[in-house]
Amino acid sequence: MANLGRPPVITVLGHVDHGKTSLLDRIRKANVAGKELGGITQAIGAYQIDHQGQKLTFVDTPGHAAFSAMRARGGKVADVAILVVAADDGVMPQTKESIEHIKAAGIPYVVAVNKIDLPQADVLKVKSDLAEVGEYVEGYGGNIPLVEISAKTGQGIDQLLENVLLLAELEELKDVSQEPLTAVVIESQLHPHKGPLASLLVKTGKLTPKDDLFSHSAKIGKVRSLISAMGEKLNLATPSTPVQVLGFASVPSIGDLVTTVPGLAVTSTLTVLGKTTSTSEVKQANVIIKADVAGSLEAILGSLPENVNVISSSVGGVTESDIQQAIGNQAVIVCFNVKAAGTVAKLASVEKVKVISLGIIYELFDYLKALVEEVQKEGRVEVVGEAKVLKTFPFNNQIVYGCLVTSGKIRLGDKVADSKIISLRVGKEATKEAKKDTECGLILEPQLDYKAGDVIITHI
Ligand code: GDP
Repeated sequence: MANLGRPPVITVLGHVDHGKTSLLDRIRKANVAGKELGGITQAIGAYQIDHQGQKLTFVDTPGHAAFSAMRARGGKVADVAILVVAADDGVMPQTKESIEHIKAAGIPYVVAVNKIDLPQADVLKVKSDLAEVGEYVEGYGGNIPLVEISAKTGQGIDQLLENVLLLAELEELKDVSQEPLTAVVIESQLHPHKGPLASLLVKTGKLTPKDDLFSHSAKIGKVRSLISAMGEKLNLATPSTPVQVLGFASVPSIGDLVTTVPGLAVTSTLTVLGKTTSTSEVKQANVIIKADVAGSLEAILGSLPENVNVISSSVGGVTESDIQQAIGNQAVIVCFNVKAAGTVAKLASVEKVKVISLGIIYELFDYLKALVEEVQKEGRVEVVGEAKVLKTFPFNNQIVYGCLVTSGKIRLGDKVADSKIISLRVGKEATKEAKKDTECGLILEPQLDYKAGDVIITHI
Protein backbone atom coordinates (compact mmCIF):
# COMPACT_ATOMS: atom_id res chain seq x y z
CA MET A 1 0.00 0.00 0.00
CA ALA A 2 2.82 2.34 -0.87
CA ASN A 3 0.65 5.11 -2.17
CA LEU A 4 -1.79 5.52 0.68
CA GLY A 5 -0.76 8.43 2.88
CA ARG A 6 -4.14 8.31 4.60
CA PRO A 7 -7.10 5.90 4.64
CA PRO A 8 -9.30 6.21 1.54
CA VAL A 9 -12.83 7.53 2.09
CA ILE A 10 -15.49 5.48 0.34
CA THR A 11 -19.10 6.28 -0.44
CA VAL A 12 -21.81 3.83 -1.51
CA LEU A 13 -24.41 4.98 -4.04
CA GLY A 14 -27.18 3.35 -6.03
CA HIS A 15 -30.90 2.98 -6.60
CA VAL A 16 -33.21 2.54 -3.63
CA ASP A 17 -33.53 -1.09 -2.47
CA HIS A 18 -30.53 -2.23 -4.46
CA GLY A 19 -28.74 -3.03 -1.19
CA LYS A 20 -26.61 -0.03 -0.09
CA THR A 21 -27.54 -0.34 3.59
CA SER A 22 -27.14 -4.12 3.56
CA LEU A 23 -23.70 -3.80 1.98
CA LEU A 24 -22.54 -1.17 4.50
CA ASP A 25 -23.82 -3.35 7.35
CA ARG A 26 -22.14 -6.44 5.94
CA ILE A 27 -18.76 -4.68 5.55
CA ARG A 28 -18.98 -3.24 9.05
CA LYS A 29 -19.96 -6.50 10.72
CA ALA A 30 -17.38 -8.57 8.88
CA ASN A 31 -14.53 -6.27 9.77
CA VAL A 32 -15.15 -5.03 13.26
CA ALA A 33 -16.26 -8.37 14.66
CA GLY A 34 -15.86 -9.06 18.33
CA LYS A 35 -16.16 -5.43 19.36
CA GLU A 36 -19.16 -4.02 21.09
CA LEU A 37 -20.82 -1.45 18.87
CA GLY A 38 -22.85 1.18 20.61
CA GLY A 39 -25.66 3.17 19.02
CA ILE A 40 -23.04 5.74 18.12
CA THR A 41 -21.96 3.87 14.99
CA GLN A 42 -25.41 4.48 13.57
CA ALA A 43 -25.44 8.14 14.55
CA ILE A 44 -21.94 9.09 13.47
CA GLY A 45 -22.63 8.65 9.75
CA ALA A 46 -19.36 6.90 8.95
CA TYR A 47 -17.13 4.10 10.16
CA GLN A 48 -13.62 2.84 9.69
CA ILE A 49 -12.56 -0.74 9.06
CA ASP A 50 -9.28 -2.55 8.94
CA HIS A 51 -8.87 -4.66 5.82
CA GLN A 52 -5.65 -6.68 5.80
CA GLY A 53 -3.83 -3.99 7.71
CA GLN A 54 -5.19 -1.11 5.66
CA LYS A 55 -7.75 1.28 7.13
CA LEU A 56 -10.75 2.26 5.02
CA THR A 57 -13.38 4.85 5.93
CA PHE A 58 -16.96 4.34 4.78
CA VAL A 59 -19.33 7.29 4.70
CA ASP A 60 -22.82 6.17 5.45
CA THR A 61 -24.58 9.00 3.57
CA PRO A 62 -28.31 8.46 3.54
CA GLY A 63 -29.26 9.05 -0.06
CA HIS A 64 -28.05 11.42 -2.68
CA ALA A 65 -29.30 14.65 -1.21
CA ALA A 66 -26.73 14.53 1.57
CA PHE A 67 -24.01 13.52 -0.87
CA SER A 68 -24.66 16.48 -3.15
CA ALA A 69 -25.14 18.88 -0.23
CA MET A 70 -21.70 17.86 0.97
CA ARG A 71 -20.23 18.13 -2.46
CA ALA A 72 -21.87 21.49 -3.08
CA ARG A 73 -20.46 22.94 0.12
CA GLY A 74 -17.36 20.98 0.86
CA GLY A 75 -16.00 19.74 -2.40
CA LYS A 76 -14.77 16.21 -2.62
CA VAL A 77 -15.62 14.14 0.42
CA ALA A 78 -15.02 10.63 -0.88
CA ASP A 79 -12.02 9.29 -2.77
CA VAL A 80 -13.69 6.22 -4.26
CA ALA A 81 -17.35 5.28 -4.86
CA ILE A 82 -19.10 1.93 -4.92
CA LEU A 83 -22.05 1.90 -7.31
CA VAL A 84 -24.50 -0.75 -6.17
CA VAL A 85 -26.72 -2.24 -8.89
CA ALA A 86 -29.13 -5.06 -8.07
CA ALA A 87 -28.59 -8.06 -10.37
CA ASP A 88 -32.34 -8.66 -10.62
CA ASP A 89 -33.23 -5.08 -11.47
CA GLY A 90 -30.43 -3.54 -13.54
CA VAL A 91 -29.79 0.16 -14.09
CA MET A 92 -32.62 2.29 -12.66
CA PRO A 93 -33.20 6.09 -12.54
CA GLN A 94 -31.26 6.62 -9.33
CA THR A 95 -28.42 4.47 -10.70
CA LYS A 96 -28.06 7.01 -13.50
CA GLU A 97 -28.25 9.88 -11.02
CA SER A 98 -25.57 8.21 -8.91
CA ILE A 99 -23.31 7.96 -11.95
CA GLU A 100 -23.80 11.70 -12.55
CA HIS A 101 -22.91 12.46 -8.92
CA ILE A 102 -19.79 10.29 -9.11
CA LYS A 103 -18.69 11.94 -12.35
CA ALA A 104 -19.33 15.43 -11.02
CA ALA A 105 -17.21 14.58 -7.97
CA GLY A 106 -14.48 13.33 -10.31
CA ILE A 107 -13.79 10.14 -8.39
CA PRO A 108 -13.25 6.57 -9.64
CA TYR A 109 -15.79 3.87 -8.91
CA VAL A 110 -16.34 0.15 -8.86
CA VAL A 111 -19.65 -1.46 -9.79
CA ALA A 112 -20.96 -3.89 -7.17
CA VAL A 113 -23.58 -6.09 -8.81
CA ASN A 114 -25.55 -7.09 -5.72
CA LYS A 115 -28.09 -9.85 -4.98
CA ILE A 116 -26.10 -12.34 -7.04
CA ASP A 117 -27.61 -15.05 -4.82
CA LEU A 118 -31.02 -14.60 -6.45
CA PRO A 119 -32.01 -17.09 -9.19
CA GLN A 120 -33.14 -14.24 -11.44
CA ALA A 121 -29.75 -12.47 -11.18
CA ASP A 122 -28.66 -11.29 -14.63
CA VAL A 123 -25.16 -9.80 -14.61
CA LEU A 124 -25.02 -9.53 -18.39
CA LYS A 125 -28.09 -7.30 -18.37
CA VAL A 126 -26.44 -5.01 -15.79
CA LYS A 127 -23.38 -4.75 -18.02
CA SER A 128 -25.41 -3.94 -21.11
CA ASP A 129 -27.63 -1.49 -19.18
CA LEU A 130 -24.48 0.32 -18.07
CA ALA A 131 -23.09 0.34 -21.61
CA GLU A 132 -26.35 1.89 -22.75
CA VAL A 133 -25.74 4.87 -20.49
CA GLY A 134 -22.14 5.11 -21.68
CA GLU A 135 -20.43 3.31 -18.79
CA TYR A 136 -18.29 0.43 -19.98
CA VAL A 137 -17.15 -2.15 -17.44
CA GLU A 138 -14.16 -4.47 -17.64
CA GLY A 139 -14.74 -7.26 -20.11
CA TYR A 140 -17.48 -5.26 -21.74
CA GLY A 141 -15.50 -2.72 -23.72
CA GLY A 142 -14.21 -0.61 -20.85
CA ASN A 143 -12.11 -0.52 -17.69
CA ILE A 144 -14.57 0.18 -14.88
CA PRO A 145 -14.11 -2.69 -12.40
CA LEU A 146 -17.17 -4.83 -11.67
CA VAL A 147 -17.57 -7.30 -8.83
CA GLU A 148 -20.45 -9.70 -8.31
CA ILE A 149 -21.53 -9.66 -4.68
CA SER A 150 -24.25 -10.67 -2.28
CA ALA A 151 -24.68 -8.45 0.74
CA LYS A 152 -26.90 -11.24 2.05
CA THR A 153 -24.41 -14.16 1.91
CA GLY A 154 -21.18 -12.16 1.95
CA GLN A 155 -20.06 -13.51 -1.42
CA GLY A 156 -17.61 -11.23 -3.26
CA ILE A 157 -17.24 -8.66 -0.46
CA ASP A 158 -13.48 -9.24 0.01
CA GLN A 159 -12.96 -8.96 -3.72
CA LEU A 160 -14.95 -5.71 -3.70
CA LEU A 161 -12.71 -4.28 -0.97
CA GLU A 162 -9.63 -5.36 -2.97
CA ASN A 163 -10.92 -3.43 -5.96
CA VAL A 164 -11.70 -0.37 -3.86
CA LEU A 165 -8.16 -0.43 -2.49
CA LEU A 166 -6.68 -0.77 -5.99
CA LEU A 167 -8.60 2.31 -7.13
CA ALA A 168 -7.58 4.19 -3.99
CA GLU A 169 -3.91 3.35 -4.62
CA LEU A 170 -4.12 4.92 -8.06
CA GLU A 171 -5.39 8.11 -6.41
CA GLU A 172 -2.04 8.47 -4.58
CA LEU A 173 -3.58 9.83 -1.41
CA LYS A 174 -1.07 12.06 0.32
CA ASP A 175 -0.28 12.29 4.01
CA VAL A 176 -1.98 15.59 4.89
CA SER A 177 -1.76 15.31 8.67
CA GLN A 178 0.74 18.18 8.94
CA GLU A 179 -1.56 20.64 7.16
CA PRO A 180 -3.95 22.97 9.01
CA LEU A 181 -7.10 21.23 10.19
CA THR A 182 -10.09 21.10 7.85
CA ALA A 183 -13.06 18.84 8.44
CA VAL A 184 -16.48 18.41 6.93
CA VAL A 185 -19.73 17.92 8.86
CA ILE A 186 -21.26 14.58 7.85
CA GLU A 187 -24.05 14.32 10.48
CA SER A 188 -25.47 16.67 13.08
CA GLN A 189 -28.19 16.67 15.70
CA LEU A 190 -29.37 18.43 18.81
CA HIS A 191 -28.95 15.97 21.67
CA PRO A 192 -31.50 16.53 24.46
CA HIS A 193 -28.83 16.48 27.19
CA LYS A 194 -25.51 17.02 25.51
CA GLY A 195 -26.59 19.87 23.21
CA PRO A 196 -25.37 20.15 19.61
CA LEU A 197 -23.50 17.07 18.41
CA ALA A 198 -21.83 16.75 15.05
CA SER A 199 -19.84 14.12 13.23
CA LEU A 200 -16.84 15.44 11.41
CA LEU A 201 -14.73 13.73 8.82
CA VAL A 202 -11.21 15.08 9.14
CA LYS A 203 -9.91 16.02 5.71
CA THR A 204 -6.52 17.50 6.62
CA GLY A 205 -4.57 18.13 9.80
CA LYS A 206 -5.27 16.95 13.33
CA LEU A 207 -8.19 17.58 15.64
CA THR A 208 -7.68 17.40 19.40
CA PRO A 209 -9.80 18.13 22.49
CA LYS A 210 -9.94 21.82 23.49
CA ASP A 211 -9.35 22.97 19.88
CA ASP A 212 -11.37 26.03 18.94
CA LEU A 213 -13.64 25.46 15.96
CA PHE A 214 -14.16 28.05 13.26
CA SER A 215 -16.23 28.41 10.16
CA HIS A 216 -14.24 30.89 8.09
CA SER A 217 -13.45 33.52 10.73
CA ALA A 218 -16.47 32.97 12.98
CA LYS A 219 -15.93 30.92 16.11
CA ILE A 220 -18.56 28.19 16.24
CA GLY A 221 -17.41 26.09 19.16
CA LYS A 222 -14.67 24.42 21.11
CA VAL A 223 -14.03 20.66 21.17
CA ARG A 224 -15.23 19.30 24.50
CA SER A 225 -14.91 15.67 23.52
CA LEU A 226 -13.97 13.50 20.55
CA ILE A 227 -15.63 10.11 20.21
CA SER A 228 -14.67 7.55 17.56
CA ALA A 229 -17.13 5.56 15.46
CA MET A 230 -16.49 2.72 17.91
CA GLY A 231 -17.68 4.84 20.80
CA GLU A 232 -14.19 5.32 22.23
CA LYS A 233 -12.86 8.61 23.57
CA LEU A 234 -10.08 9.96 21.35
CA ASN A 235 -7.27 12.39 22.04
CA LEU A 236 -6.50 12.87 18.39
CA ALA A 237 -8.34 12.56 15.08
CA THR A 238 -6.21 12.35 11.93
CA PRO A 239 -7.14 12.65 8.21
CA SER A 240 -10.00 10.41 6.99
CA THR A 241 -11.12 9.72 10.57
CA PRO A 242 -14.80 10.18 11.33
CA VAL A 243 -15.33 11.55 14.80
CA GLN A 244 -18.23 12.75 16.90
CA VAL A 245 -17.61 16.18 18.37
CA LEU A 246 -19.25 17.76 21.38
CA GLY A 247 -18.79 21.50 21.77
CA PHE A 248 -20.52 23.27 18.91
CA ALA A 249 -22.38 26.43 19.88
CA SER A 250 -25.28 25.41 17.66
CA VAL A 251 -26.09 22.55 15.33
CA PRO A 252 -23.97 22.86 12.15
CA SER A 253 -25.33 21.82 8.75
CA ILE A 254 -24.27 18.71 6.88
CA GLY A 255 -21.57 19.68 4.42
CA ASP A 256 -20.28 22.63 6.48
CA LEU A 257 -16.52 23.01 6.55
CA VAL A 258 -14.82 23.48 9.90
CA THR A 259 -11.28 24.54 10.73
CA THR A 260 -9.22 25.34 13.82
CA VAL A 261 -7.46 28.26 12.15
CA PRO A 262 -9.63 31.40 12.04
CA GLY A 263 -9.96 32.84 8.58
CA LEU A 264 -8.36 29.84 6.87
CA ALA A 265 -9.64 29.88 3.31
CA VAL A 266 -11.50 26.59 3.19
CA THR A 267 -12.59 27.43 -0.32
CA SER A 268 -12.81 24.58 -2.72
CA THR A 269 -13.48 24.24 -6.37
CA LEU A 270 -16.01 21.68 -7.40
CA THR A 271 -17.96 20.58 -10.36
CA VAL A 272 -21.72 20.72 -10.35
CA LEU A 273 -23.15 18.87 -13.32
CA GLY A 274 -20.34 19.81 -15.60
CA LYS A 275 -20.14 23.41 -14.49
CA THR A 276 -17.29 24.61 -12.31
CA THR A 277 -18.26 26.81 -9.41
CA SER A 278 -16.55 27.79 -6.24
CA THR A 279 -17.76 27.69 -2.66
CA SER A 280 -17.00 31.16 -1.43
CA GLU A 281 -17.18 32.71 2.03
CA VAL A 282 -20.58 34.13 1.20
CA LYS A 283 -23.42 31.66 0.95
CA GLN A 284 -25.30 31.77 -2.32
CA ALA A 285 -28.85 30.83 -3.22
CA ASN A 286 -28.93 28.10 -5.87
CA VAL A 287 -31.68 28.66 -8.43
CA ILE A 288 -32.89 27.23 -11.70
CA ILE A 289 -34.53 29.93 -13.84
CA LYS A 290 -37.30 29.16 -16.29
CA ALA A 291 -39.00 31.77 -18.47
CA ASP A 292 -41.64 31.94 -21.18
CA VAL A 293 -39.52 33.56 -23.89
CA ALA A 294 -35.82 34.14 -24.55
CA GLY A 295 -36.21 37.90 -24.21
CA SER A 296 -37.52 37.77 -20.65
CA LEU A 297 -34.93 35.16 -19.68
CA GLU A 298 -32.18 37.44 -20.92
CA ALA A 299 -33.64 40.38 -18.99
CA ILE A 300 -33.73 38.33 -15.79
CA LEU A 301 -30.21 36.96 -16.17
CA GLY A 302 -28.96 40.45 -17.01
CA SER A 303 -29.96 42.00 -13.69
CA LEU A 304 -29.82 39.28 -11.08
CA PRO A 305 -29.32 40.34 -7.44
CA GLU A 306 -25.97 39.50 -5.82
CA ASN A 307 -25.26 35.99 -4.54
CA VAL A 308 -27.77 34.26 -6.77
CA ASN A 309 -26.09 31.18 -8.22
CA VAL A 310 -27.81 30.11 -11.43
CA ILE A 311 -27.46 26.34 -11.81
CA SER A 312 -29.23 26.42 -15.16
CA SER A 313 -31.67 28.58 -17.10
CA SER A 314 -33.92 27.82 -20.04
CA VAL A 315 -37.10 28.74 -21.85
CA GLY A 316 -40.25 26.63 -21.34
CA GLY A 317 -42.23 24.89 -18.59
CA VAL A 318 -40.60 23.03 -15.71
CA THR A 319 -39.44 19.55 -16.70
CA GLU A 320 -38.59 16.42 -14.74
CA SER A 321 -34.91 16.98 -15.33
CA ASP A 322 -35.20 20.51 -13.82
CA ILE A 323 -36.58 18.84 -10.69
CA GLN A 324 -33.73 16.30 -10.62
CA GLN A 325 -31.22 19.09 -11.02
CA ALA A 326 -32.89 21.06 -8.22
CA ILE A 327 -32.63 18.04 -5.90
CA GLY A 328 -28.97 17.52 -6.73
CA ASN A 329 -28.11 21.15 -6.09
CA GLN A 330 -30.60 22.05 -3.37
CA ALA A 331 -31.93 24.69 -5.72
CA VAL A 332 -35.22 26.56 -5.94
CA ILE A 333 -36.90 26.67 -9.36
CA VAL A 334 -37.92 30.25 -10.13
CA CYS A 335 -40.33 30.65 -13.05
CA PHE A 336 -41.35 33.71 -15.01
CA ASN A 337 -44.71 33.27 -16.74
CA VAL A 338 -44.36 29.47 -16.80
CA LYS A 339 -45.07 26.76 -14.24
CA ALA A 340 -44.77 23.11 -13.38
CA ALA A 341 -47.76 21.14 -14.62
CA GLY A 342 -49.25 17.68 -14.00
CA THR A 343 -46.80 14.93 -13.09
CA VAL A 344 -43.89 17.38 -12.87
CA ALA A 345 -45.75 19.42 -10.22
CA LYS A 346 -46.47 16.19 -8.37
CA LEU A 347 -42.82 15.14 -8.52
CA ALA A 348 -41.79 18.56 -7.18
CA SER A 349 -44.11 18.20 -4.21
CA VAL A 350 -43.01 14.62 -3.47
CA GLU A 351 -39.34 15.60 -3.65
CA LYS A 352 -40.01 18.81 -1.71
CA VAL A 353 -38.54 20.98 -4.44
CA LYS A 354 -39.70 24.57 -4.22
CA VAL A 355 -41.15 25.91 -7.48
CA ILE A 356 -42.09 29.60 -7.53
CA SER A 357 -44.01 31.11 -10.45
CA LEU A 358 -44.20 34.88 -10.81
CA GLY A 359 -45.54 37.06 -13.60
CA ILE A 360 -44.05 40.43 -12.70
CA ILE A 361 -40.34 40.87 -13.11
CA TYR A 362 -39.67 43.12 -10.09
CA GLU A 363 -41.55 40.66 -7.87
CA LEU A 364 -39.22 38.00 -9.17
CA PHE A 365 -36.16 40.08 -8.22
CA ASP A 366 -37.67 40.80 -4.78
CA TYR A 367 -38.21 37.10 -4.30
CA LEU A 368 -34.59 36.31 -5.25
CA LYS A 369 -33.27 38.93 -2.82
CA ALA A 370 -35.38 37.47 0.00
CA LEU A 371 -34.17 33.99 -0.91
CA VAL A 372 -30.51 35.05 -0.70
CA GLU A 373 -31.15 36.60 2.73
CA GLU A 374 -32.81 33.43 3.94
CA VAL A 375 -29.93 31.23 2.74
CA GLN A 376 -27.34 33.50 4.33
CA LYS A 377 -29.15 33.48 7.65
CA GLU A 378 -29.14 29.67 7.80
CA GLY A 379 -26.62 28.30 10.23
CA ARG A 380 -25.20 31.75 11.01
CA VAL A 381 -24.12 32.06 14.61
CA GLU A 382 -23.00 35.32 16.11
CA VAL A 383 -20.87 34.61 19.15
CA VAL A 384 -21.41 37.18 21.90
CA GLY A 385 -19.22 35.91 24.68
CA GLU A 386 -17.33 33.06 26.26
CA ALA A 387 -17.15 32.06 29.88
CA LYS A 388 -15.12 29.43 31.64
CA VAL A 389 -17.03 27.29 34.11
CA LEU A 390 -15.31 27.54 37.52
CA LYS A 391 -17.78 25.46 39.48
CA THR A 392 -21.34 24.26 39.39
CA PHE A 393 -23.85 24.15 42.21
CA PRO A 394 -27.44 22.99 42.47
CA PHE A 395 -30.15 25.54 43.10
CA ASN A 396 -33.91 24.77 43.17
CA ASN A 397 -33.58 21.68 40.94
CA GLN A 398 -31.48 23.69 38.54
CA ILE A 399 -27.75 24.02 38.03
CA VAL A 400 -26.03 27.35 38.54
CA TYR A 401 -22.79 27.71 36.59
CA GLY A 402 -20.25 29.89 38.36
CA CYS A 403 -18.22 31.31 35.48
CA LEU A 404 -15.47 33.72 34.59
CA VAL A 405 -16.23 35.75 31.45
CA THR A 406 -13.16 35.21 29.26
CA SER A 407 -14.18 37.10 26.13
CA GLY A 408 -16.97 39.39 24.93
CA LYS A 409 -19.84 39.59 27.38
CA ILE A 410 -22.46 37.28 28.83
CA ARG A 411 -26.02 38.62 28.56
CA LEU A 412 -29.33 37.55 30.01
CA GLY A 413 -31.47 35.99 27.25
CA ASP A 414 -28.58 35.02 24.96
CA LYS A 415 -28.36 31.44 23.77
CA VAL A 416 -25.98 28.61 24.58
CA ALA A 417 -26.51 25.94 21.93
CA ASP A 418 -30.31 25.88 21.83
CA SER A 419 -30.66 26.72 25.52
CA LYS A 420 -31.17 30.18 26.90
CA ILE A 421 -29.61 32.09 29.81
CA ILE A 422 -32.66 32.62 32.02
CA SER A 423 -30.90 33.99 35.08
CA LEU A 424 -27.68 35.96 35.43
CA ARG A 425 -26.02 37.34 38.56
CA VAL A 426 -22.83 39.16 39.36
CA GLY A 427 -22.18 38.80 43.06
CA LYS A 428 -25.65 38.72 44.62
CA GLU A 429 -27.15 41.17 42.12
CA ALA A 430 -29.33 40.04 39.23
CA THR A 431 -27.99 41.69 36.09
CA LYS A 432 -28.54 41.86 32.35
CA GLU A 433 -24.88 41.74 31.39
CA ALA A 434 -21.56 40.47 32.75
CA LYS A 435 -18.44 41.98 31.18
CA LYS A 436 -15.10 40.36 30.35
CA ASP A 437 -13.00 39.35 33.39
CA THR A 438 -15.95 39.39 35.79
CA GLU A 439 -17.28 36.36 37.61
CA CYS A 440 -20.95 35.56 37.21
CA GLY A 441 -23.51 32.88 37.98
CA LEU A 442 -25.93 31.75 35.30
CA ILE A 443 -28.77 29.30 34.81
CA LEU A 444 -29.61 27.68 31.48
CA GLU A 445 -33.00 26.48 30.31
CA PRO A 446 -33.13 23.71 29.16
CA GLN A 447 -30.15 22.66 31.23
CA LEU A 448 -26.94 21.53 29.55
CA ASP A 449 -24.33 19.34 31.03
CA TYR A 450 -21.18 21.45 31.61
CA LYS A 451 -18.45 20.77 34.14
CA ALA A 452 -15.77 22.89 35.75
CA GLY A 453 -13.14 23.73 33.12
CA ASP A 454 -15.61 23.70 30.20
CA VAL A 455 -16.13 26.82 28.14
CA ILE A 456 -19.64 28.13 27.55
CA ILE A 457 -20.06 29.96 24.27
CA THR A 458 -23.02 32.30 23.99
CA HIS A 459 -24.70 33.63 20.89
CA ILE A 460 -27.74 35.60 19.83
P1 GDP B 1 -30.95 0.29 0.02
O1 GDP B 1 -32.28 0.97 -0.12
O2 GDP B 1 -30.16 0.40 -1.24
O3 GDP B 1 -30.16 0.69 1.23
O4 GDP B 1 -31.28 -1.28 0.12
P2 GDP B 1 -31.33 -2.24 1.40
O5 GDP B 1 -29.97 -2.57 1.88
O6 GDP B 1 -32.30 -1.69 2.38
O7 GDP B 1 -31.92 -3.57 0.72
C1 GDP B 1 -33.18 -3.61 0.11
C2 GDP B 1 -33.72 -5.03 0.19
O8 GDP B 1 -32.92 -5.93 -0.54
C3 GDP B 1 -33.78 -5.57 1.61
O9 GDP B 1 -34.97 -6.31 1.77
C4 GDP B 1 -32.56 -6.48 1.69
O10 GDP B 1 -32.75 -7.52 2.60
C5 GDP B 1 -32.47 -6.99 0.27
N1 GDP B 1 -31.09 -7.33 -0.10
C6 GDP B 1 -30.01 -6.54 0.03
N2 GDP B 1 -28.90 -7.18 -0.42
C7 GDP B 1 -29.31 -8.41 -0.84
C8 GDP B 1 -28.62 -9.53 -1.40
O11 GDP B 1 -27.43 -9.57 -1.65
N3 GDP B 1 -29.41 -10.62 -1.74
C9 GDP B 1 -30.75 -10.63 -1.52
N4 GDP B 1 -31.41 -11.73 -1.87
N5 GDP B 1 -31.41 -9.60 -0.98
C10 GDP B 1 -30.71 -8.50 -0.63
